[in-house]
Amino acid sequence: MKILANDGIDPIGKSLLEQAGFVVDTETVAQDKLAEALQNYDAITVRSATKVRQELIDQCPNLKLIGRGGVGMDNIDVDYARSKGLAVINTPAASSLSVAELVFAHLFTGVRFLQEANRKMPVEGDTKFNALKKAYAKGVELRGKTIGIIGFGRIGRETATVALGLGMNVLAYDLFPFEGNLTLNLQGGIKVDIPVKTVSLEEVISNSDFISLHTPFADKPILGAAEFEKMKPGVGVVNCSRGGTIDEAALIAALDSGKLAFAGLDVFDNEPTPAAAILQHAKISLTPHIGAATNEAQERIGVELANLIIAHFNK
Ligand code: NAD
Repeated sequence: MKILANDGIDPIGKSLLEQAGFVVDTETVAQDKLAEALQNYDAITVRSATKVRQELIDQCPNLKLIGRGGVGMDNIDVDYARSKGLAVINTPAASSLSVAELVFAHLFTGVRFLQEANRKMPVEGDTKFNALKKAYAKGVELRGKTIGIIGFGRIGRETATVALGLGMNVLAYDLFPFEGNLTLNLQGGIKVDIPVKTVSLEEVISNSDFISLHTPFADKPILGAAEFEKMKPGVGVVNCSRGGTIDEAALIAALDSGKLAFAGLDVFDNEPTPAAAILQHAKISLTPHIGAATNEAQERIGVELANLIIAHFNK
């Protein structure tokens, strides 16, 4: 059995597959050469870069499995592949904590103006040092503040758990209501269950100090001008979910008017070339879709993917 890990795979995942008798190639094949290359493979694994569309599936009759290392399968024609008898698998839980921690990287950045300081200090230098110091002196703490979480699935709940650990209050909304405990895993193996119950979207939007989005891609933005209008003044918004879930023009308008204090974005419209107005905005903290890009998440993804592939072919 041969596998092409076209967007790479963690070495531990690769070695698990090899120990199980698979041949794993990790050399990336360009998208337009994939149909030809895949004639020799039983399975392909991808992250978000490689596209596995209907046309490619039709050209590769030997392909039996498509594996996505990560969550979103927007780059794969999943229903079509399954209709042709291919197995399509992903690793939904492996990166949740890494994405949740990135949310807090953006939140801490926003409340202490790191995105502006990082851009301005090298340019403005010592002469403006004291002016910058004064400008950035109005930071706020996260403890005791309320984070609104829209989309209370795996990453939304993980984000809530980190927030609770920081002493924040959580307001969460999901299309499917949730009522239950979130477990904080603390030092020394101590576990603390904290009860959480979802509320209405209206409540999240109107009563949060920070809002973080954790829904799948939607045809229509979840946060636009009307929602920004209803938020408390000075809210910080973070999006580590998918481009398209925030109306970017409305976001810029709300930042420029001062209604929003800052935004932290890991995902964008038109990836991988987000709008210059977003990239250059002083109040936006940027990361290039790296939610799952930690050593730990990549190892978990590789191991989970390998185990799923081994289980599938050993059925
Ligand atoms: P999940 O399926 O576990 O949770 C998504 C939740 O959103 C579900 O509970 C669903 O009911 C809810 N939902 C869907 N539409 C909604 C709406 N309109 N309003 C409110 N709730 C809604 O998914 P997850 O693993 O938590 O992933 C969440 C998002 O994060 C996805 O978009 C995923 O693609 C993205 N993601 C990003 C990165 C990154 O690198 N930034 C990495 C992994 C996942």
